[in-house]
Amino acid sequence: MNISVIGAGQMGAGIAQVFAVAGHRVSLVDISQDALDRGLAAIHKSLGRVLKKERITQAEMDGALANVSLHSDLGAGVANAELVIEAATENVDLKLKIFSDLSRLAPAAAPLASNTSSISITRIAAATDRPEKVIGMHFMNPVPIMKLVEVIRGYATDDATTKLVMDLSESLGKVPVEVKDYPGFVANRILMPMLNEAMNTLWEGVAGVSEIDTVMKLGMAHPMGPLQLADYIGLDTCLAILRVMQDGFGRGHYQPCPLLVNMVMAGKLGRKSGEGFYDYSGGGKELVVSKSFA
Ligand code: NAD
Repeated sequence: MNISVIGAGQMGAGIAQVFAVAGHRVSLVDISQDALDRGLAAIHKSLGRVLKKERITQAEMDGALANVSLHSDLGAGVANAELVIEAATENVDLKLKIFSDLSRLAPAAAPLASNTSSISITRIAAATDRPEKVIGMHFMNPVPIMKLVEVIRGYATDDATTKLVMDLSESLGKVPVEVKDYPGFVANRILMPMLNEAMNTLWEGVAGVSEIDTVMKLGMAHPMGPLQLADYIGLDTCLAILRVMQDGFGRGHYQPCPLLVNMVMAGKLGRKSGEGFYDYSGGGKELVVSKSFA
């Protein structure tokens, strides 16, 4: 199939990779040439690791890379799309604009999926000319490794679109799970309050970064501590998701930790910016010793 992926960040690059490896032709679109270059480099690096483990051959890696084309123009990137998957920044106005543009630019038969973590699929669908073909296709990070795809049916999503996305997810070796369209869906409705509570625990001085992550790793058998996971997701994305749930449910329960708000304002977005609760500037993951996080 011809798949167009909008947004070449952490998620868009991962989504492009899994489709390209499965033999689909992928047009990767971003407004930033830098993001496109970094996205392709990330795919290259990730496939290189898989090649080293002898899970693919050099020819398969070359074939996958040849399946990916880069586009800075949305119209050119979706002109032949049989499915569009949007994975741009978690911002409602931005997504409404992209989907309204897709109505004009993508072939009328193409379903339009969003990888949004929390934003209403029904609202996004209402900005298009084809609400019955709009659906949530929520991959997990890192996309090539994580098995789950949360499939979100909007109010108007039809059976054919749902079946296409469920079947396609399975063909990629993923496990799709269908859920209804309410803020945060299932994954982030449950995950984000935990990450936010870990940040509040840090902000209130109950324990430090390493202590909180160690408690949850060793005590709850989580593969990653909550503060490391928040860094991994992106602190801007965590904040955006919490705000969507706070607005959507009107419950103080989802109020973002003030420390999270401050860190995002300071440009400390986690791994992708080089610093969050940990420092990634040296290539590894070190404690940020200069901050008290209070
Ligand atoms: P990111 O910040 O790594 O990348 C976002 C990309 O979108 C950037 O490259 C940016 O240049 C691009 N972009 C912005 N406006 C655009 C436009 N108009 N057209 C095309 N590209 C545009 O973010 P990410 O972590 O990849 O998240 C992307 C989406 O995936 C968000 O909706 C997020 O909620 C969702 N998501 C994230 C995770 C995660 O763990 N990070 C997991 C699941 C879903």
